Formats: sequence, structure tokens, C-alpha cells
Amino acid sequence: MIHVANLIDGIFVDTEENFDDISPLDLSVIATIPRTKNVDDAVDAAKGAFGQWSALSLEQRCDWLDRIADELENQIEEIARLEALDTGKPMEVALNVDASRSVNNFRFFANFGRSLESQEFKMEDATNYVIRKPIGVVGLISPWNLPLYLLSWKIAPALLMGNTIIAKPSEITPLTAHFLGKVCTRIGLPNGVLNIVHGYGPEVGQAIVEHPEIKAISFTGGTNTGKIVAATAAPLFKKLSLELGGKNASIVLDDADLEIAVPGVLRASFLNSGQICLCGSRVLVNSSIYDEFMDKYLQQLKEFNIGPVISEQHRTKVLSYIELAKEEGGEIIAGGNVPDKAGSWIEPTVISGLSHTSRTATEEIFGPVVTVHKFDTDEEAIEMANCTQYGLAGSVWSQNRGRQVAEKIESGMVWVNTWLHRDLRVPFGGVKDSGVGREGGMWSIGFFSEAVNICVMED
Ligand code: NAD
Repeated sequence: MIHVANLIDGIFVDTEENFDDISPLDLSVIATIPRTKNVDDAVDAAKGAFGQWSALSLEQRCDWLDRIADELENQIEEIARLEALDTGKPMEVALNVDASRSVNNFRFFANFGRSLESQEFKMEDATNYVIRKPIGVVGLISPWNLPLYLLSWKIAPALLMGNTIIAKPSEITPLTAHFLGKVCTRIGLPNGVLNIVHGYGPEVGQAIVEHPEIKAISFTGGTNTGKIVAATAAPLFKKLSLELGGKNASIVLDDADLEIAVPGVLRASFLNSGQICLCGSRVLVNSSIYDEFMDKYLQQLKEFNIGPVISEQHRTKVLSYIELAKEEGGEIIAGGNVPDKAGSWIEPTVISGLSHTSRTATEEIFGPVVTVHKFDTDEEAIEMANCTQYGLAGSVWSQNRGRQVAEKIESGMVWVNTWLHRDLRVPFGGVKDSGVGREGGMWSIGFFSEAVNICVMED
């Protein structure tokens, strides 16, 4: 049994109340989690550390990010083990997706920081110098699907730019954030620079968003929670980044190379049990190749290894969508059942015969459930892809027209003949109800700093 505690000012602190962390693999209790309701101590610690941390040179902070990356890399197997335990995902996903990317987030921003160049804009009689100042204390709130991967994606650039942090991982998957806290204390990261508080979103998450001394909030989670976060933060004029839900389309055109399209679309459908905001939960296939594509897709699905969904509560939600699909006239062509074993498992499920405007095909399910739809022309595929409130990501599979179609998709990110192929320099984020703002590379630098212009008149 793991005992998770808050990290405040370099010390692990308990709270009066705790609650259980349940394994989705077999519903056993694997850890106790502090139920934090107040973040004043954490904010005081972060404020206290800000002067010293922000006074370091960029190069010194890059060195700190490298030290964190080194220590995480040394223990990459342990990170993967904890992530697999907490989320139920297969060990190879925990290692190759979660743990390796968590290391890379620190490594990438260390290197990126070293490559930052100063900006100057010359006028005839003056020079403008743009400097980037830290914001102060920032609040970072993350979800359960890629726990350390998404939290470290915020922590690394926030530290780089000289901010001090109150981080709140999901209450469903706190183990690797706790592990990161231990790593940071072990390597001597100055006390109060990174504070980690655990607990329920409407309690400790809300306390972070409401706290007047926390000047920026970077939030990743569901669209409905994002609305609450935005409504709370806006009157306080906090800087806000919202990375929210999605209902992404994988579009297979008639000239797709099925050798790569079938495994690619399958991976986009079911990696992490479909619990990645970027997953393609709507598969749109040109009617001329539909039968061939589906035969291969369903065949390869039989070999696809997935874990359970994150919790019993989430399984109930996902199953309710399978029932809704039946009510809406859908046909379950694969899966749809609950395997006879402990844990929150659901068979990977494929549903056909639904309108692309049905609730099942337009609302975020966030599980191993995809709907498949036929189209006749590229224009029809584009119209179908764009018919949801979301606009996070998507993929197009085509040998000749991929980029052309991709440009017409209303999403922040579109892949062509690949999926989840990530370059950490590029903008990451959504349009429509999938979010506000971008993270990644210069976009993270911009979010986690205040750009200040100094205009110097020349003689
Ligand atoms: P969630 O919105 O329930 O929770 C996200 C985080 O917000 C958790 O840490 C939670 O405790 C906290 N929270 C809840 N209420 C809060 C409040 N009132 N104030 C502040 N914080 C609060 O989301 P989830 O179920 O953990 O994650 C799944 C969702 O996240 C899906 O919708 C998925 O699409 C989305 N997601 C988006 C991205 C992206 O980059 N766009 C990435 C991963 C997941």
C-alpha cells in the first residue's frame, strides 16, 4: 500500500482526511490519497521560493530540468510500473508512451531553453528589447489518462521560465506525481519551487483556481470542468490555458494505403483503451473501400492489447453510450460486452450504422468505443468530421490528398498517414469546445512568461 502525501515546501505533509486509490485492474485499494481542501500553505511556499528560483539564469534552470530528466530516466521502469498500476494500462504503453514522454518533456524543455534567442525590433531611432519575465506562482491541473506525461508537460516549461508551482494531479491517478515529488526532493530542487497537492477537483482544484496569489492556470481535462475553471479564473484576470475534450475523426480516403491506414486507425481508436484526448473515436471510410478496410480493421482488432478503463464509474459511463448507440439504431459489430473478470474492463467496441450526427457519434465517450461511418466524397468526409462541438485533433489517410483535406478539418492538430507522431516544438491544443490556447515549444514559453517590451531611444 502506497501512502501519498502532499509536497509542500520540500516536505511531505499529511492531511486529516484521506481517500482510497483503486486499481482498475482488479478494484483493489493500492494507495491512500490526501483529501486537501486548502492550498494556502502551498501558495506561501511557492511565493517564498519565487525570488530565488526566478533569479537563476535560464541556463541554470535548464540544468535543473536536465537533472530531473536524468533522475527520472534512471528510474523509468519504476515510473512505468506505477503508471500501469494506477491506470491499468499495459506495461508497454506505460513505458513507451507515458514514462518515456515524461522524461522527454523535461529533456526537451531543457534543450529548448538553451536555444531561446533574445528578440529585438529595430526602429530608425530606437531599439525594442523583448524580455520574458516569469509570471509568479502558477497552478497546473491535469487528468488521469496520461498522468505524469501531461503533468510534466506543464511543470517543465513552467519551471524553465522561472515560475514556482502548485501542481494538482488527478485524484484517480496520483502515484507518479508523488514519485516526481520524491525525485525532486532527492536531487535537492529548492524547497517550495514545486509543490504538489492531492485531492478532489471541486475541492483542491477549485481552491487553486480561486486563489488570488496564483496568477496563471494551465488546465487539462474535460470540457465541462474547463467551463467551471474558465468561469472562476476569468474575473480574477488569470492567464488561462485550457486543453479540453475531443471527438476526433480518422478519415480514410479512397486512395489510402491500407497497409498503414488499418493499423494506424486501429491504434488511434484503441491505444490506452481509447482514453487519449487525441484518439480517433469516429472512423470515416470512403464507401468504395469500406468493406476491405473493415475486414482488415476487425481482423487486426482481435490482436490489439488494451487494459481496462480507468474506473467503475467511468465504465458505467462508457457502457451507457453502448446502450445509447443501440437505441439510436447502431449495430455492435465488435465487442460491446464486459469480460468476466475483476476490474473495470470493457471489450474494444466498434459500432456501425449510426448517423454521424447521432449523440453516440458526436459526444465524447473517452473509452474503447468507436463509431464507423461511410462517405462518398472528400467534401462529405470533411463535413462529417466537422460536425461536432469539438475540434482537437484528427487524422487523414490518403496517398495523394491528405494535406488538402487536413487543411479543411476544424481541429488544432491533424496528422496525415500517421497518428500521435509528436514533435514537441509544434503547437498543441484545440479549437471550438476543445480548448483555448496552445502549449508546446514557443507556445509554452509564451504561456508561462510575461513578454515585456523595453524601447530604448538611441542618440
Ligand atoms: P476532469 O475534467 O474530470 O478532471 C481534470 C482535472 O481537473 C482533475 O485533476 C480534476 O481533479 C480537476 N478538477 C475537477 N473539477 C475541478 C474544478 N472545479 N476546479 C479545478 N480543477 C478541477 O477530466 P478527467 O476525467 O480527469 O480527464 C478526461 C478528460 O480530459 C477528457 O475529456 C479528455 O478529452 C480530456 N483531456 C484533454 C487533453 C487535451 O490535451 N486536450 C488531454 C488529456 C485529456
